[in-house]
This record gives sequence, structure tokens and C-alpha cells, in this order.
Amino acid sequence: MDVRTVADLSPAERRALFERDAGVDAVRDDVREIVDRVRTEGDVALREFSEEFDGVTVGNIDITDDAERAHAELDDADDPVLDAVHDAAANIREFHERQRPEDWRDDFGGRELGRRFRPLDRAGVYVPGGAAAYPSSALMGVIPATVAGVDHVSVATPPAEEINPVTLAAIHEAGADAVYQVGGAQAIAALAYGTETVTNAQKVVGPGNKWVTAAKAIVQGDVEIDFLAGPSEVLVLADGTADPDLVAADLVAQAEHDPNASVVAVTPDADLAAAVAESVDEQAAGRDRDETIRAALDNEASGVLHSRSMPEAVLFAEEYAAEHLSIVADDDEALLARISNAGSVFLGPYSPVAAGDYAAGTNHVLPTNGGAKRYGGLSVDTFLRSSTVQRLDRDALADLSDTITTLAGAEGLEAHAESVRKRFE
Ligand code: NAD
Repeated sequence: MDVRTVADLSPAERRALFERDAGVDAVRDDVREIVDRVRTEGDVALREFSEEFDGVTVGNIDITDDAERAHAELDDADDPVLDAVHDAAANIREFHERQRPEDWRDDFGGRELGRRFRPLDRAGVYVPGGAAAYPSSALMGVIPATVAGVDHVSVATPPAEEINPVTLAAIHEAGADAVYQVGGAQAIAALAYGTETVTNAQKVVGPGNKWVTAAKAIVQGDVEIDFLAGPSEVLVLADGTADPDLVAADLVAQAEHDPNASVVAVTPDADLAAAVAESVDEQAAGRDRDETIRAALDNEASGVLHSRSMPEAVLFAEEYAAEHLSIVADDDEALLARISNAGSVFLGPYSPVAAGDYAAGTNHVLPTNGGAKRYGGLSVDTFLRSSTVQRLDRDALADLSDTITTLAGAEGLEAHAESVRKRFE
């Protein structure tokens, strides 16, 4: 990879980095057609799209029993992969249980006010599985929903001649109630609108490629979505203390997700920038997925960047608002204090993004394309709604009476004022 200098980036290069869309806009029209067809034709359309995009003739769309069976078979075989699924699930559950908010009520001087939290009834979780298998995304999507107490959690994952058994087992382990074999935009449409087989959800969540992400943008409004969690991104903010090979390893790891993935390192240390760029090329070569990795590295939202100073590198990171932000620097906490825009932050040399991807316990479903400027990643909150509660005593209402009736008068809503006055007649 070439090293570029932050100060010398052209307006077009800055747009490619900071207004990146990972190919989502270009597929929007095609995806709208897919969504419309699923909405009107239901299961027939799901089967046709599975043939067209996945090359699979789907028998049963509902594969809930297959997921249970896959789990039992790995269990019977004492397969160590199930232990790994189990360990990761335990850490993810523990972290998400800490997020469950308590209902509360307090007395504000005669006004008893509070908030209560209730889970959604039906959530739909997309578990990607086109170019790679994502048992980890099954855990990340389903566990927060079950911790929140969602009554019915359904999962859609792409069909295959044989769906990855670890993905199926993880979906079961995480506690999904229904599992459907359908992928891409058609899966998002099915979860959003329902079909003869697929139960519609109130909220559709989960990561995916550009077709999945475009579909979530389209169904948003008809159903709730979490946020747009498209092709993966990492930004490493490093000073001269960083090990260039480890920085490069994290970039290459993220690049293997998708040709549309974006990977960036930014540092004020010119020697580190040069060493990272060289190491990336070395580590990228000869890997199983080297074509995907090379495409992601060559993506115009990727790059190794040299800044004139650490404050300039921090400004760059803030503007980039990466899904994953890795800070590898002597005083990483001081740098973290200056960062607001990041989906998930990884501190220090022993916190590779892969730890959070799989098993640290934090969630890996995170906003991409700069979404971290506006919202955070998947959490228990994603699956909750809150209501407020109030009980006013007579004195409290009397104290507020003038304020309410005056404002009601200002709004021309006489009946509102009257509803207060009547209580004191
Ligand atoms: P996927 O499940 O997202 O997509 C596979 C589906 O894409 C297929 O089932 C097919 O229906 C559809 N598709 C393929 N080609 C198509 C075409 N030409 N037209 C229409 N639809 C088509 O799996 P994937 O491709 O492996 O991608 C997974 C993605 O999830 C990666 O981009 C990865 O970076 C991302 N990811 C993101 C996060 C996050 O939180 N942001 C987390 C994990 C994974």
C-alpha cells in the first residue's frame, strides 16, 4: 500500500474516505425491486431469489429444527467448536446483562415520575453467511434480544447446499425461536413484511453486505431497524510505540470480510506508516481470501495515512467515525478522551478487533459508513421500548395549574386548560 499524507488529500480523496458508502447506493434500485417482489409475492419470491443469488433450490424455508439438530450433533460429537461458541456466548451474555436498565420512579415534589422498559414482542435478526460463515453474528444479534426479553426472536441466514453447522448451532445456542434459510435483501424484506412462512418482526437488526444494508435502508420506516451495519471497517490510530506488524495484522483481518470493507491506519510517525504499509502487503499475500483482501485494501476508503501531528490524526479519526477504532499509543486513554465518533474502541496492543468480533463480550454489530457520528452499536436497548409514568398529587397539580393553563391558552387549546381547572371545582 502507498502511504498518503493527510494534509495532501484532495477533496475527492477526502470525500471517498469520509463520505464512504461501501457500494450501498449503487445497488439501491435493484434492492428496491427485490423488496417489492418479496412484499407482494412472499415465499415464491424468496425461493426465486435463493436460486438466482445463492444458487440453491430451497426446500423448507423454515429450518428451526435443523438448527436444533446441528447443535445436538456437535454436542454429541464433543466438537470443541461448540465449546468456543459456548464460551463466547457466556461472555456476550454477561456483558449484555449489565446493560439491562431498571424501571424507576422518583418523587419530584408531589410529582411521582418514572420510566419503565419493556421488550419488543417480535425481533428479526439477520445472520450473514454469503462469502463467509458468521456464527459470531448469530450470538451478537440474538443474545441481546433474549437478554432484553423479546418474546419471539426469528433469524434469517442465507441458504446453501449445506448451511454451516456451526452457524446453525450458534443460532440455536443463542436462543432463537425460529430460523429461516433466506439471505440478502430478500431476507430483510421477509423479516420486515412477513411471508406465508416468515413471521414479520417489529424490528429488523443485524449486519450484512451492501444488498442487506441497502434493504435495511429501504424497509426502515415500515419497520424499525437497528442502524446500517454494512461492510466492515477498522481505523487504527497509532503512535510510534505501535508494532507495525500488529497494526497491519488488524487491517488485513478486517479486509478479509468483504471487497467493500474499509481499512485505515493513521499515525504521525512516518516510519511507522511506511512499515505498516509494507507489512500489510506482505501479510495480505497468499491468504485463502487474498482477492477479497486486496480489493478491500485498494478500496478508495482504505489507506495508510501520515499526519503532521497526533491532534491531526485524532481529527481524522473523528471525521472518519469508524465502526472499529483501535488506539495503539503510549497514552491511549488521553486519546480516547478526545474521541466521540467510534462504534467500538480497542485499547492497547492486546485488544485486537478480532477479540471483540468473537468473544470479549462486546457486540460486533456496529454502525458503518460514518453512522458512529449519530448512533452506537447493537445492545439490549435496541430491543426495548420505554414508557414514562406519572402520578401527581393534588398540591402538585395545583402548583402547576397556572403554568399548564397559561401554556394551553397560548396554544389555543382551551379544553386542555379546562381539564385541569375542573379538578379544583
Ligand atoms: P451476507 O449474508 O451479508 O450476504 C449474502 C447474500 O447476498 C446472499 O444470500 C445473496 O442473497 C445476496 N447477494 C449476493 N450477490 C447478490 C447480487 N448480485 N444481487 C443481490 N443480492 C446478492 O454475507 P456476506 O456477503 O458474506 O457479507 C457479510 C457482510 O457482513 C460483510 O460485508 C461483513 O463485513 C459484514 N459484517 C458487518 C458487521 C457490522 O457490524 N457492520 C458485522 C459482521 C459482518
